[in-house]
Amino acid sequence: MQTHNLGYPRIGTHRDLKKASEKFWKGSIGTNALLETGRLIRASNWKIQNEAGLDLIPSNDFSFYDQVLDNTMMVGAIPEAFHDIAVQKNNEMELYFAMARGYQDDTIDIKACEMTKWFDTNYHYIVPEFTKDQPFELLSRDAINQFCEAKKLGITTKPVLLGPVTYLLLGKASSADFDPLDLLNNLLPVYLEVLEALEQHGAQWVQFDEPMLATDLPEKAKEALLLTYKTIARRFPYLKIMVSSYFGALEDNFNTAIALPIEALHLDLCKGQEDLDRLIENKPFLKCKKISLGIVNGRNVWINNFRQSIELLTKARANFSLEQLMLAPSCSLLHVPCDLEEETELEKAVLEKLAFAKQKLQEVKFLSKALSGKHDQQWLQTLESNVGHFNASENTTRDKNEEGAFESDKKTGRISAFPIRRMAQKESLKLPPFPTTTIGSFPQTSKIRKWRKDFKSRKIDQTLYDSLLKKELEEVIQTQEVLGLDVLVHGEYERNDMVEYFGELLDGVAFTKNGWVQSYGSRCVKPPIIHSDVKRSKAMTVQWAKLAQSLTKKPVKGMLTGPNTILLWSFVREDQARSITKEQIACAIQEEVLDLELAGIKIIQIDEPALREGLPLKKRQHAAYLKEAIEAFKRSYTGVEDKTQIHTHMCYSSFNQIMEAIRALDVDVITIECSRSGNELMDAFVDFNYPNEIGPGVYDIHSPRVPSVSEMKALLKKASQVIPPELLWVNPDCGLKTRGWEETKRSLANMVEAAAQMRA
Ligand code: GLN
Ligand code: ZN
Repeated sequence: MQTHNLGYPRIGTHRDLKKASEKFWKGSIGTNALLETGRLIRASNWKIQNEAGLDLIPSNDFSFYDQVLDNTMMVGAIPEAFHDIAVQKNNEMELYFAMARGYQDDTIDIKACEMTKWFDTNYHYIVPEFTKDQPFELLSRDAINQFCEAKKLGITTKPVLLGPVTYLLLGKASSADFDPLDLLNNLLPVYLEVLEALEQHGAQWVQFDEPMLATDLPEKAKEALLLTYKTIARRFPYLKIMVSSYFGALEDNFNTAIALPIEALHLDLCKGQEDLDRLIENKPFLKCKKISLGIVNGRNVWINNFRQSIELLTKARANFSLEQLMLAPSCSLLHVPCDLEEETELEKAVLEKLAFAKQKLQEVKFLSKALSGKHDQQWLQTLESNVGHFNASENTTRDKNEEGAFESDKKTGRISAFPIRRMAQKESLKLPPFPTTTIGSFPQTSKIRKWRKDFKSRKIDQTLYDSLLKKELEEVIQTQEVLGLDVLVHGEYERNDMVEYFGELLDGVAFTKNGWVQSYGSRCVKPPIIHSDVKRSKAMTVQWAKLAQSLTKKPVKGMLTGPNTILLWSFVREDQARSITKEQIACAIQEEVLDLELAGIKIIQIDEPALREGLPLKKRQHAAYLKEAIEAFKRSYTGVEDKTQIHTHMCYSSFNQIMEAIRALDVDVITIECSRSGNELMDAFVDFNYPNEIGPGVYDIHSPRVPSVSEMKALLKKASQVIPPELLWVNPDCGLKTRGWEETKRSLANMVEAAAQMRA
């Protein structure tokens, strides 16, 4: 039974790639130094995987920014806007980063390509753009070069290519009169050229990632898959092609997947265990020679449950020969941190539960020995301790369920319906029409970040840190008063990140020192690890909100992150249902909400920017997900009085799919991002006849540009034609933490003036 890996984290153990790329962008290192960093990371990754004893190690899983953009470079699908740069610079690297990040000099000013979430992960890819007669040509030879690079190091890798069908489906068409899939015939020859070169250089295996297999596919896409892999099989009868599906079960695509004439089909058995049973039932119809079992979860940080995995393997073995089976992580390890050995400060009880990329490879190797019959002492010991661990955690889970600690059957929601609450809130808040506010954070200057760093490294103590933040808070309240905003915020200076901050204060959540995961380009995040029951043992934001409120007569908005967003941006324990963990977080937030209310805070905003991105890949699962999401959100404010106004904020997602759910959240006010997605988003709310108050963001906070009064007024006028003016709020489209003070003050002054003119 061969072992292999689908992809290894490419950021380097100490975020080496991030550091080098950012230096390169600043101009403090040159192309060669950046290329060298890439080479070193690749060499180190190959070495780690080689030492783990894997039979097949991937190449071309490395990327300087994003693997989808790499594929765009490979097939030469350069959007027209970048043609000038391609010609002028005649430099692949410059063109590549221009597409990823935009480009500006005295004569050229081009926006970056669009970026969006990679399936249901927190990784973002650069969206390919296709024209109706999109030409393709082999442009970047990186895939081939990296194969040769590894070969020189003595490793014959399995190059990874993004499958042509998934690639086309991820892209967007420049006009509505064609379907990117229509381009397959133009695209395939480039892939064939790459395969030819790879074969010439001695490649035996090539892995094609087709994660679209885990989504609902139209017939046309299924046909495209068959056509693609039949064409490849015909042209390259001696190349071993692996098609890998991950992030979900095959479901309706099962028959297509098993009909592909390939060497191996890789399945994600962590997200789609039922696929194995279906394979067994359909054994006579399998066109592939081997099945790769994705048994070690590439999406979480927990150790594998060996007993369960061995049961699965035994079942597989009863139906397939060892030669027919392969073993691997469920998907690329891109989504987990590099190496647990870097974590020197984690509690032992937590550490024991964890496995990062490097450890996951050892798990694959360990499991591959399960069916061999001769187990050495060490293997048996490892198994025993793993089984012991899961037995122990099963017992604690059982205890908890018996306690029935969770109030899932208690009713959630507000006391009265919106029109009644609205009257109480009007009475209590006395806000003018078109009330102005912000989304929560104000500029996090380098001064503040330095204080936090010093505080974390214990250079300054809690008292000093708090007093510094307090001074900033006093100032920001004063600034908002002067600007004339109607609903003030405390500025969120105490927070590094909207999820990490709450994670650090809640029980049952751990933080790593070096558990970085790539989010996009050079941006990495360190997701909280929810390992035990989440509880709030102390108030988290009350002191700041209270302090802010004591400094002004205007209402101060309390600021919290919602349960869905906290859950979605964390690594979540798997020894109990996610719904229970979500409920626990919701209960913790609820306690905070009620404490804020008790402290005299009249408006509380519960941010849920991640709500939409958690939508499952398959449509039939949407309803259940949304039902649970709504319940958790409603739980978080249940118990507040009618006169307390609940806000939520969402951004950067197309809301059309979830309007019904947004209404069901039953918030008094929703503020949304609008300026980037233009009217599309607004239209969703209008078409849907959204009944409660709404603040469509009137300016884009991702740019330092200062919007004019007339521009924002025009937007508000437009909005008030389709939304009753008495329901409209005036606000920027997201938090201001990444902005500078200069532009923030000027923009907000203009915004307040625009609102004043609207009132007049
Ligand atoms: N309240 C948060 C802030 O202002 C919201 C951030 C977000 O939507 N991502 O920073
Ligand atoms: Zn936002």
